[in-house]
Amino acid sequence: MLDLKNIKKYYTVGDTTTKALDDVSISFREKEFVSILGASGSGKTTMLNMIGGLDRYDSGDLVINGQSTKTFKDSDWDAYRNNSVGFIFQNYNIITHLSIIDNVTMGMTLSGVGSEEKITKAKEALVRVGLEKHMNKKPAQLSGGQLQRVAIARALANDPEILLADEPTGALDTETSHEIMDLIKELAKDRLVIMVTHNPELAEEYSDRIIRFNDGVVLDDSDPYQSGEVNEDFELKRTKMSFWTALKLSFTNIKTKKGRTFLTMFASSIGIIGIGIVLALSNGFQKQIDSTQSETLSQFPVTISRVGLDSQAAMQSQASGKNNFAKGQSVTAKKSAAESAQHINKLDQKYVDYVQDIKKSAAKDLAFSYTTGFNLVRQVDGKYQPVTFSNQDQSQAQGQMGDPSAVVGVGGAVYPTDRQGKMSFLHRNYQVLAGKYPQKKTDLILIADQHNNVNLNALKNLGFDVKNDQNLKASKLIGTKVKLVANDDFYQKLPTGTFVPARDYAQMANSSRAKTLTVTGILRTKSKNSDGLLANGVAYNDRLTKEVVDQNKNSAIATAQRASQQNVLTGQPIKAGTQPDLMAYLGAASVPSTIQIYPKSFKEKDQVTDYLDKYNHGKSADDKIVYNDLAGNISSLTGGLMDAITYVLIGFAAISLVTSMIMIAIITYTSVLERTKEIGVLKALGARKKDITRVFDAETTILGVGSGILGVLIAWLITFPANVVLEKVTDLSNVAQLNPWHAVLLIIISTILTVLGGHVPARMGSKKDAAIALRSE
Ligand code: ADP
Ligand code: MG
Repeated sequence: MLDLKNIKKYYTVGDTTTKALDDVSISFREKEFVSILGASGSGKTTMLNMIGGLDRYDSGDLVINGQSTKTFKDSDWDAYRNNSVGFIFQNYNIITHLSIIDNVTMGMTLSGVGSEEKITKAKEALVRVGLEKHMNKKPAQLSGGQLQRVAIARALANDPEILLADEPTGALDTETSHEIMDLIKELAKDRLVIMVTHNPELAEEYSDRIIRFNDGVVLDDSDPYQSGEVNEDFELKRTKMSFWTALKLSFTNIKTKKGRTFLTMFASSIGIIGIGIVLALSNGFQKQIDSTQSETLSQFPVTISRVGLDSQAAMQSQASGKNNFAKGQSVTAKKSAAESAQHINKLDQKYVDYVQDIKKSAAKDLAFSYTTGFNLVRQVDGKYQPVTFSNQDQSQAQGQMGDPSAVVGVGGAVYPTDRQGKMSFLHRNYQVLAGKYPQKKTDLILIADQHNNVNLNALKNLGFDVKNDQNLKASKLIGTKVKLVANDDFYQKLPTGTFVPARDYAQMANSSRAKTLTVTGILRTKSKNSDGLLANGVAYNDRLTKEVVDQNKNSAIATAQRASQQNVLTGQPIKAGTQPDLMAYLGAASVPSTIQIYPKSFKEKDQVTDYLDKYNHGKSADDKIVYNDLAGNISSLTGGLMDAITYVLIGFAAISLVTSMIMIAIITYTSVLERTKEIGVLKALGARKKDITRVFDAETTILGVGSGILGVLIAWLITFPANVVLEKVTDLSNVAQLNPWHAVLLIIISTILTVLGGHVPARMGSKKDAAIALRSE
């Protein structure tokens, strides 16, 4: 059933060629006990390895059950070793970190035998060699004779047709040798046993047939056999190690070197710790920045003013300031950089409509401010007198009358109503200090800062006789009534064609066209962050301005001004381009001077600016409408900075990750060297190259997951003292926060990197020649 036909195996080292097997032809019977005798180096082991499929012949053929092995692939050899052959070695070759029972079941584990069947068969085999009591022991707890019995049980467990024994008693005393020989003799009743031995007496005593070897050739055969060419159906069950088996194998191995494993994990977790802490910190800082942004910055509207700043033009004029001087003596007339960067936005009804159409999900509040001149009078001590909402000095406000183009906001602060007409902006950012929130368009409010200060000039302009630092009762202010007078009541036309303000304030106030505005409340900012959103002083609803414009746009003075090339108040010619300002001052501008768009949250601001950018598509430079996004400038700066710092720090930490990857590669390589014997044993039991790679991949997986978890754990623990220190230094609490997703990601990265680092040495291990591996001590 087993035929060696003209087998040759030569080893060439340097210049010398050793003929380990030189044209060997032997036929074996299905059941017999054959002893191979011969001097050391005569090729006995080489032949045994050849028969067992651990080594390949150079030429000739090995015929198994009538089937040539010339066309055998690696996987066929693996299956053959696993199914048909059992090995017994002089030095037992027991895997030291596995228990006795696990050693015996290993061959069946490789061929995927179910665990119950596996255990039953292994127990049977252990009973047969008389070791059933020792099956849960570790190899180190057994004697040499016992270990050889374990090896026999392992060879036997799979019930192989061929049992190969290479000097099985070489390391044993005489008595134990006889016990082992009895056992082998017993096994030879059911199978072919081929035993290599140095000991001619044992061979004579126990075996049926003795073959003598010398220098790779058969000298003598005591009972040669001419085999009949039987070609039975020869089928081999393929072997395959599950990753779970590989894990278990690696795990028990790792357990035998706990200290080293822990140190390795710790060392390679340092990179992970570094990255973990950096991520935790940047995560916390980013959260702080984000919350500040959405609290503070989202309150800042995107603003479109009649005079905007073209940031692109501003940048270009800066960039041209290189260090090269012009030649010649002539000079060039040039606008200042600030002036050329100035952009006049042509705000018209079309644009207003466009802004009105902005998505509700992006912008929560829209404020259209008309730089409307309010004609205001108020009764003080029984007498009506003109008043203003402006926070500026009265004289200054009057000065503006002469040159309305310099108007900076005739009224006080304008607060936006949301698109349903509700005053959610006020409710969100301001609390009631006294009185109540405004309800109607004609309700006025006073804005106080966090120290309850209300602008002195604003109060003076309203007609209150107050000094700096003077304390006022809220009740004195709430309920203050101001009359809003229509242009036609306020201005008189002179025979010269110019207009002047009328003098009879009582008459204006009592006109049916006058509206009564009432101060209904004093509001104070809710948090530091929203302080300054509205200027300290009088504030009114943006829709009030619209109402005034509607009332005044067709007034006599507005109609006259619209048609005139002169300022109808002063009689002076109008400066180019200031007509719209003049109309605004007269409360007759139909388009707003400022549009403020309050994004829903910080994120939606991009949608707002994108929408505004879309309007400018394909428009000439003059027709473009530029907006000012102050919050955007600030946040893109801080966000970018944070990202940059994070990347740099992660870069540094990543270097230590690479270092630990190299370290893992070295450690795996050491492990491969240490476990060379085990690789040989596994191969003898039918393990494939892949399975061996798997064993080491499993080991590095354990190391990788372990160091990942360890690193994340340490990084997490460090965040606690780090937060204490940071709170002392920066006043920010809980800055370092390890995001659980980052933790998972880091463990995965650690595992992948470690497996990558260990994979190359693992592959090297799998390629080790089994025959050489088993020869190694
Ligand atoms: P035995 O088992 O009879 O002592 P071996 O089969 O181990 O002898 O070796 C036969 C010959 O082949 C010896 O000369 C040995 O040095 C040589 N040999 C065995 N394996 C190798 C190898 N991998 N490389 C080179 N020479 C080898
Ligand atoms: Mg030998």
